[in-house]
Amino acid sequence: MQTISGIEKMKTRARRLRERGKSIGFVPTMGDLHEGHLSLIRESMARTEKTVVSIFVNPAQFGPGEDFASYPRNLNKDSSVLSGMEVDVLFAPSEDEMYPHGFKTCVQVEKLQDRLLGRSRPGHFKGVCTVVLKLFNIVQPDVAFFGQKDAQQAVILKKMVEDLNLDVRLEILPIVRDEDGLAISSRNRYLNPEEKKAAKILSASLREAQEWIEGSERESAAVVERMRRKINSESLARIDYLEIVDGASLEPMDKITDRALIDLGVYIGKTRLIDNAVVRLKE
Ligand code: AMP
Repeated sequence: MQTISGIEKMKTRARRLRERGKSIGFVPTMGDLHEGHLSLIRESMARTEKTVVSIFVNPAQFGPGEDFASYPRNLNKDSSVLSGMEVDVLFAPSEDEMYPHGFKTCVQVEKLQDRLLGRSRPGHFKGVCTVVLKLFNIVQPDVAFFGQKDAQQAVILKKMVEDLNLDVRLEILPIVRDEDGLAISSRNRYLNPEEKKAAKILSASLREAQEWIEGSERESAAVVERMRRKINSESLARIDYLEIVDGASLEPMDKITDRALIDLGVYIGKTRLIDNAVVRLKE
């Protein structure tokens, strides 16, 4: 595995790969790699000829008072995991090179960025889109792999790719969960054992919602209300947002159809966890 930190060097490497006709798969991450990330990397390695993984804790997507400073950073450990998997390139740029003094440009996907998680984290998706577009320009991937865990992010990035005519295909892969059903996340590290147990309420409530819907409940308000009651029965949980929306437009959906996305953010103690489920209707 080659580790590259310089932007120009990464661009040159990508250009050479493309000249040799190699397809490039790209997995952008903030590091502290876990099974969720590894599932994306394995898929990229299976589907493309060369895989580039980036590790960059992007300051632009953290708001004031958020966990940018304490976000887990494990570059040495991540690097040995990636090299053990025989990933082709690890791209780990510095903050100074990504955002040099005087940096002024940003990308915003209007409206979609203000809904759901975006309401609680203003500026978050602007930071995500800006860094992802920069990374796409540097790595020049044919295919980029993202997780359904960040469902709103996936919708927003697809819109950015469409609106800006970017030459990259996005693949969105399923949520990887632990044995308790908890969606794996770097932020799960912030949970103490009691909170970790309480965090099961997110996936449990989504599972129950799916069952109600399968049992022919079609009123979003009724499903949301039952989910709220269930989550609120867990004393460590506090709902940040919980909505049933159209999976493409993220607009609220009153009557549930097979385009519905149940999306939620719930604080467990001081940690906000996010999870979601795509509704599957049998008929
Ligand atoms: P992050 O390092 O948290 O920015 O995540 C990098 C990529 O991994 C994003 O596309 C996430 O959606 C994806 N990801 C994170 N956790 C999971 C998970 N549990 N299952 C699937 N994908 C995930």
